[in-house]
Amino acid sequence: MGRSRSLAVGLGLGLRPRTEWNDPRRGEAEPELVGPSPRSGGTARLRAVGASDRAAEQPHGGAVRPASPVPPSGGSREAICYSTPVAHADVLVIGAGIVGCATAHALAAAGHTVQMVDAREPGQGATQASAGVLAPYIEGHESGVLCTLGRRSLDLFDSLIASLAEDVGPLPVYERRGSIELAFDIVARTRLQRAGEALGAVGVEARWLTASEVATLEPAVGNGARGGLHVPMHGLVGAAALTAALEAAATRRGAQFRSGVQVTGIARGSANRVAVTTSAGVIEAEHAVLASGSWAGQVAVEDAGEVPVRPVRGQLLHLSLPTRRLTHVVWGTHCYLVPWPDGSVLVGATVEDVGFDERATVLGVTGLLEAACALVPELSRATFVGVRVGLRPASPDALPIVGPSATVPGLIYATGHFRNGVLLAPLTALLVRHLIDGAHDDPALAMMAPSRLGL
Ligand SMILES: Cc1cc2nc3c(=O)[nH]c(=O)nc-3n(C[C@H](O)[C@H](O)[C@H](O)COP(=O)(O)OP(=O)(O)OC[C@H]3O[C@@H](n4cnc5c(N)ncnc54)[C@H](O)[C@@H]3O)c2cc1C
Repeated sequence: MGRSRSLAVGLGLGLRPRTEWNDPRRGEAEPELVGPSPRSGGTARLRAVGASDRAAEQPHGGAVRPASPVPPSGGSREAICYSTPVAHADVLVIGAGIVGCATAHALAAAGHTVQMVDAREPGQGATQASAGVLAPYIEGHESGVLCTLGRRSLDLFDSLIASLAEDVGPLPVYERRGSIELAFDIVARTRLQRAGEALGAVGVEARWLTASEVATLEPAVGNGARGGLHVPMHGLVGAAALTAALEAAATRRGAQFRSGVQVTGIARGSANRVAVTTSAGVIEAEHAVLASGSWAGQVAVEDAGEVPVRPVRGQLLHLSLPTRRLTHVVWGTHCYLVPWPDGSVLVGATVEDVGFDERATVLGVTGLLEAACALVPELSRATFVGVRVGLRPASPDALPIVGPSATVPGLIYATGHFRNGVLLAPLTALLVRHLIDGAHDDPALAMMAPSRLGL
């Protein structure tokens, strides 16, 4: 999810979380790119390193997920070591974040034979840090394209959640109670009032709330807001649970998942197949989907330049109150708050250009805490449950990269979802499925075409 208008949270000490894209520290050391390391205890191995630290990096061994029995109708999880090319999958999905799992689910549901590999366990990339906000009309302020894509994908959520509930049981958290974006000054008020009018003009329900209406709807919000823009169709979902449900439902429909498998290269294979080089051997498939998030640029694609995706770190806090005190996703100037039924409140998020550094920082945490307590004062008495850190996959124009490769027939890119990967996952999955089934004319594909970036 995005930065709130600006995360210039003064801590009264003149310290602020780093939100500027040109992070002054970046000049100091270049992050060493070795692909996503398995997560252990939240401290990722990847970090902005100085020369002295390089020697410390040890390549990790591919760990294969232990075999575990699954329902008889479903696929199997078993330890497999590849010594020769294996060509039994229609589709190989590389990366089991929200984008990869949604894609594997859509393809398996359409009857394709799907394999999915990841260097980590499912959902342990950026997805585990996601706030799960579904708000195209907040995130899309700056980009009409993002608004259009976000709205189409949001419209797919209810039916997706319903079909997952049938397959694997109801999700613990999925709501469509709307968002309130608050204004604390005249400029913001004017901007939001105009945004509300513009949304109304295109048939999107949006209402400007006065300060007293905000106080009635959200009494926990502190004073100072001059009003807010309420968009009822917005929502939230538990991103980790959604990813797990997508993976489980895909597995029930025959998909196979392997963790601890690192992909290093993609090339044209034999008989018009795609050959994918992994730490567990070469896998050949009719189609391959590169859904490896921020690490997409580290997978070599034959005759193509590096996928122009870079990591943008986001830190997110998980706080807990005894009972639920907020109804809507509340969007402030310096942070946003995501309320869960159990009294949890997610506070997001920093936007930091620090390379492949998945560590939480004091600056990030204290800045978000101060912003959250300024917005909802009683959060100062909340329990601090934890901080999550993820690397958002950002493309040069901040739009996703979804579509066919120009150099490797059968390869499909599905990455670069930046701040909206959870929101955009259902649409991405649908488009990838269409592409594999031979339908290339969806207008959304033109908006996210890899060819715009020379891929
Ligand atoms: C703090 C924060 C808050 C956010 N809030 C929201 C929100 O409210 N709403 C929203 O829509 N989005 C939000 N996002 C953005 C969203 O989380 C991302 O856009 C989304 O998770 C990207 O999904 P992905 O599947 O592309 O990438 P990831 O989840 O990063 O998954 C990529 C996977 O690929 C694997 N992988 C990578 N390289 C290789 C390789 N070479 N071989 C094998 N496996 C590999 C990784 O291990 C990883 O599991 C947020 C992000 C952050 C950080």
